[in-house]
Amino acid sequence: MISEWLLKETNQRRLKENMPEVAVIPTSAIEPHNLHLPIGQDFMHTGYIVEQSAKIAWDRTKKVIALPGIPYGVDCNLLDFPIAIHVSQDVLNAMLREVIWSLRSYGIRKIVIVNGHGGNDFTPFIRQIQSNIDVYIFQMDWWKVGDDKYFDVFEKPEDHAGEMETSVGLALYPHLVEMEYAKDGKAREFRIKALQKGWAGTSRDFSKLNDHCATADPYAGTAEKGEKYLNIVIERIAEFLTDLANEPVDDIFPYKE
Ligand SMILES: [Zn+2]
Repeated sequence: MISEWLLKETNQRRLKENMPEVAVIPTSAIEPHNLHLPIGQDFMHTGYIVEQSAKIAWDRTKKVIALPGIPYGVDCNLLDFPIAIHVSQDVLNAMLREVIWSLRSYGIRKIVIVNGHGGNDFTPFIRQIQSNIDVYIFQMDWWKVGDDKYFDVFEKPEDHAGEMETSVGLALYPHLVEMEYAKDGKAREFRIKALQKGWAGTSRDFSKLNDHCATADPYAGTAEKGEKYLNIVIERIAEFLTDLANEPVDDIFPYKE
């Protein structure tokens, strides 16, 4: 059976009959995650979340299409661990700009970037492209979508490759998770007060934090928790896609009267 909500599976006959109004693009990263999770973690789980959300929204509206994801992300601060692939934000922006131009040429103007990697930030790009052409671009960092429910599901705070990512890995691809090799994710703290408090921020060089490219405790991760959190996130993203598909684009979209 053809999954019509996936651009890679549908065909031009179906698209000509029913052109989508909303497109979703997953962005992610190829990078090490502690010693127990796969390098493709972000790419795989972000793609899964997007495909599942798009399916739900498609069933409700028949107006949503999920694009194949961009696998690589901004990873210049993880290159000391094998094998991270770094692609600069400028290159990601250029790639997305042309993807968006292509979609726009078919009249698709409501576009959602579902981002799966903390090192990527499309906000300045979105600000710019919305000023240049008549498109409406939205970014969702998937792990933040369930923020208010996080501690209903998990015990330890998440950062990189901790309880949440481990749980998601155990839920989606348990055969790729080597739990027996997981290290504790304890990372060096900043020595300066403003950085500790978050009054000042910076970009972290992961090789200065510890020896295993992880910054959160993975040990409490379970498949059940992963499934629970994924369900919350997928339903919320699906709801957003549905709402976008149902909203007409007028002069003040996406604002209220
Ligand atoms: Zn990750």
